[in-house]
Amino acid sequence: MHKIAFIGLGNMGAPMALNLLKAGFALRVFDLSAAPLQRLAEAGAEIAERPADAVADADAVISMLPASAHVQRLYLGADGVLAAVPAGALLIDCSTIAAATAREVAAAAAARGLTMIDAPVSGGTAGAAAGTLTFIVGGTAEAFERARPLLGAMGRNLFHAGGNGAGQVAKICNNMLLGIQMIGTIEALQLGVASGVDVTVLSDIMARSSGRNWTLEVYNPWPGVMDGAPAARGYSGGFGSDLMLKDLGLAAEAAAAVQAPIALGALARELYRRHSAAGHGALDFSSLREVPAG
Ligand code: NAD
Repeated sequence: MHKIAFIGLGNMGAPMALNLLKAGFALRVFDLSAAPLQRLAEAGAEIAERPADAVADADAVISMLPASAHVQRLYLGADGVLAAVPAGALLIDCSTIAAATAREVAAAAAARGLTMIDAPVSGGTAGAAAGTLTFIVGGTAEAFERARPLLGAMGRNLFHAGGNGAGQVAKICNNMLLGIQMIGTIEALQLGVASGVDVTVLSDIMARSSGRNWTLEVYNPWPGVMDGAPAARGYSGGFGSDLMLKDLGLAAEAAAAVQAPIALGALARELYRRHSAAGHGALDFSSLREVPAG
C-alpha cells in the first residue's frame, strides 16, 4: 500500500500527512485552502486539484475533515471519492463525526465493493505532530489489519472498537466523560479555593485520593498549578471549548438514537454551549470556570 490520497490538511490532517511522508508513503493531497497544500508540497507530497484527482489511482484514502456534512459531501457527492476511487482501495475517515454518518458512508462504499473504516483520533494537535495519536477504529477486523501500517505511522495506540460507527461511538463516549470530569474538577477546585484551601495543595490531595482523574493529573484547569497545561498559557492551544461542544453534541445525537440516558452529558453540553456563547469557544476546554454561574 504505497499511494495514499490525503484529504483535509488542517490542524490535525497536515501533521498526520507529514508523518506518512516521513514513513515513506507517497502522498497526493487535497484541501480547500492553499497554505497547507504548499507546506505539504514542500515536504514532498503531490498536490491534486480536486478530490477525484487525489484518489484516482490511490491504494488508500485518508480524510480528516471538520464534521459530518463535509464527510458526506466528500465521499457521496457527484464528483466525490466513491465515484472516482479505484476498486480495492481502502477508505479511512479520521474525522470526528456522527456514528450514523460513518455507517451511512461505509454502507455506500460497500455498495460499490469498497472497504471503509471510521478511525477518529484522540491526542490532539501535539499527538498528531509527534505521531503518537490514539486511533479508535470501527469496521471489520480485516480492514483494521489492512489499515494498521498507515495508522501506525501516525499514531501509537490502535484500538478496534467494533463494526462501522463503533470507532465514533467509543470516541464520543470518552470525550463526553472527559467533559464531565473537567467540569467536576473545576467545580471541586472552585469550592476549595473559595473556602480558603490552597489550589495546589487541594489538587495534590485529590490527585492521590478517590477524586483522582486525568484532568487533575495532567491537565489541571487552574492557572499556576501545572506548568505545561493550557491554564498556564491563558488557555491557548490544547483542545478548544468549541470542539468539546461539538463532541458533546455528537454524544447527544448518539444517545438519542438508542435512548441512552445522559443527564450529565446533556448538562455538560449546556455549560459548554453557554461558554461558547460568552465568546470563549476558542479557549481550551479547561477554561470553563470563567463563566459566571447561572
Ligand atoms: P481544521 O478545521 O483545522 O481542518 C479541517 C481542514 O479540512 C481544513 O484545512 C479545511 O480547509 C479542510 N476541508 C474542509 N472541507 C474540505 C473538503 N470538502 N475537501 C478538502 N478539504 C476540506 O480541523 P482539525 O482541528 O484538523 O480537525 C479535524 C477533525 O479532527 C475534526 O473532525 C475534529 O473534531 C477532529 N479532532 C480534532 C482535534 C484537535 O485537537 N484539533 C483532536 C481530535 C480530533
